[in-house]
Amino acid sequence: MTERTILALGGNAFASPGKPLTMARQFEFAKLVFQSLSPLLIDHRELVISHGNGPQVGHMLIRVEEALGKAYAVPLEVCVAESEGELGYVIIQTLHNVLNEWRQHRPIASILTQVVVDQKDSAFESPTKPIGPFYTDEQADEVRQRGFPLREETGRGFRRVVPSPYPREIVDVDVIESLLRAGVLVVAAGGGGIPVIRDGEQMRGVEAVVDKDLTSALLGELIDARLMLILTDVPCAYQDFNTPNQSPIGRIGIAEAQQLLNEGHFAEGSMKPKIEAAIQFSRRSGCRTIICNVDILDQALNGLAGTIIEQTEKKV
Ligand code: ADP
Ligand code: MG
Repeated sequence: MTERTILALGGNAFASPGKPLTMARQFEFAKLVFQSLSPLLIDHRELVISHGNGPQVGHMLIRVEEALGKAYAVPLEVCVAESEGELGYVIIQTLHNVLNEWRQHRPIASILTQVVVDQKDSAFESPTKPIGPFYTDEQADEVRQRGFPLREETGRGFRRVVPSPYPREIVDVDVIESLLRAGVLVVAAGGGGIPVIRDGEQMRGVEAVVDKDLTSALLGELIDARLMLILTDVPCAYQDFNTPNQSPIGRIGIAEAQQLLNEGHFAEGSMKPKIEAAIQFSRRSGCRTIICNVDILDQALNGLAGTIIEQTEKKV
């Protein structure tokens, strides 16, 4: 079984909630995660790995602010590019080390990936994605003066909100495809990709972030992946999440997933984009999406655990 696979790694692959983020911890966590990915890594499947970057970009924004006037400022899309560099490095080195322990050898590459978004996307009119540190009232005034919209989160202070437009096109998809054909393990579209807009023949970056699960679905579709695997910190998606009626969602069809989505079972910005990504990928590719955590990966790959969303209306 060597089906071409797009793997979207959640932020918990590099950090543990509650523990301060350090470089050493990111390497440590990445090692634990990749050691549990042996079912995917040792069968020579064609594999693209994308990853989240929320906490890393949050820290970059703090560095930018603390250094204002001393070091040049870095706009948000450049922070995303830098996070692809940082985590791309963590992943390719860790993959190399883990594969070496297993006496496996494969070429590995990390690709800075630009993702085209639409300048007219409604996300630019009403930014909703919270990002970076929390600010006190006074700090918030300063940040507002620099032109950044903020939103208050009850009891926690103010936070920047940025547009999260829909991914339309992956600029570097042909490079990714060539590498896959050459047997390279590819890291791409980290943090949802570096958002750019097209301006006639030219491209330029925009201050935004793209959801990594939605970009992974688009990339999976474009490279004709046969499986999308979304690894996160819960074993599956749940109905009535965090209520006494919470119940796991197992194998479902696209229509059922859409219904659960419409009924509001999935939180905005966390599980909802995963389910949207799953529906989109599975509808367009006719293949399945699995949402699970690393602990149950083996069982999930065999259809025995996790949330599995698939095209049930088989073509005859
Ligand atoms: P990742 O870094 O993997 O993208 P997220 O925090 O964005 O992680 O998404 C995973 C989180 O989604 C879970 O930890 C859980 O708290 C939250 N979540 C929201 N709604 C649901 C649901 N219906 N079922 C399962 N998890 C949910
Ligand atoms: Mg997420």
